[in-house]
Amino acid sequence: MAIVYNFNPGPSILPKIVLSEIKKNFFNWNDSQSSIIEISHRSQKFMEYAVQVEKDLRFILNIPNNYYVLFCHGGARGQFSAIPLNLKHKFTQPEYIHSGYWSLCAYQEAKKYCSPTCISVRKILRNKVISIQPVKEWKVSSRHTYLHYCPNETIEGIEIFEEPVLNNKIIVGDFSSTILSRKINIEKYGIIYACAQKNIGPAGITVVIIRDDLLMQSNIKSPSILNYKLLMKSNSMLNTPSVFSWYVAGLVFKWIKNLGGLSVIEKNNKKKAKLLYQYLNSTNFYKNYIIPSHQSHMNVTFHLKEKKLTNLFIDTAEKYKLLGLKGHSLVGGIRASIYNAMPIEGIYHLISFMKYFEEKFS
Ligand SMILES: *Cc1c(COP(=O)(O)O)cnc(C)c1O
Repeated sequence: MAIVYNFNPGPSILPKIVLSEIKKNFFNWNDSQSSIIEISHRSQKFMEYAVQVEKDLRFILNIPNNYYVLFCHGGARGQFSAIPLNLKHKFTQPEYIHSGYWSLCAYQEAKKYCSPTCISVRKILRNKVISIQPVKEWKVSSRHTYLHYCPNETIEGIEIFEEPVLNNKIIVGDFSSTILSRKINIEKYGIIYACAQKNIGPAGITVVIIRDDLLMQSNIKSPSILNYKLLMKSNSMLNTPSVFSWYVAGLVFKWIKNLGGLSVIEKNNKKKAKLLYQYLNSTNFYKNYIIPSHQSHMNVTFHLKEKKLTNLFIDTAEKYKLLGLKGHSLVGGIRASIYNAMPIEGIYHLISFMKYFEEKFS
């Protein structure tokens, strides 16, 4: 079988070596004589494994001791509700930065539980290019509250690399599509959360990294399954977790560790993104509409100058073993999601296909 490159936005590509390991050990996980999807989350083997998974994540992300790590249900959207539900008794008027689709969704969900304000940081420039205001220009209040933002807008392909530090604000970040792609300074945040199905593993587990004082203050009356304190006390096993997702997340963390950690990953990601954006800059046949300083390293979006060729591009790409390139229906065009597990060969392959397509149809 020819090599296939998977550019899906999520669920997305996993390292081949991780897939092989799953296959190899599937029927007899860790000498338990049962498969990973039949084993009890409370078995000693799995509990030990879960402890190691957290250790590895703490090591990779350099998570300080005054932060808890929770493995939750409900995906990133679950956290859109969990955050206000756990914090609304302390912060009735949180602030939500709007940079794109997902950050707006988070705001709309929070409105059900408290009185958030929405602060848009998007600017549309000439030529329809989207720009994002630098953090110092964000029109935040002077209130002590939490401020929610999304450092990588997966759908539009907009990334905010600057880590916000704002007086009086507890920064809460939806890192779903950028976690583990580059180094971050955890201490600058109150809460970081991310669903699994981009850079962590299969959907079914959601990582929440929360500073201890915020966890301790969280609202005990929030729904049990979203309740940070209960989740902490039960080691994230208040009810039955997705053992499979947890297991694979652990394999992905090991893979990152073995590669040399986030500095190596970050370097690879920069190189991959640069290749694609450089190529996009060199042609008029395709165009990206994000200002260069905010072009996402994980989700590269672009449009064909001839819009009517878009579907043909996607269909032909599939024949060339390049999968999942269709842009989100909200923005149309093409989106190449180039998460950690996408090898650089996938980028070379995509660029040579784009050149071929351009030559054929321009
Ligand atoms: C994928 C994604 C979500 C939604 O995740 P679910 O797990 O499907 O709820 C939210 N925010 C961002 C930034 C995402 O990339």
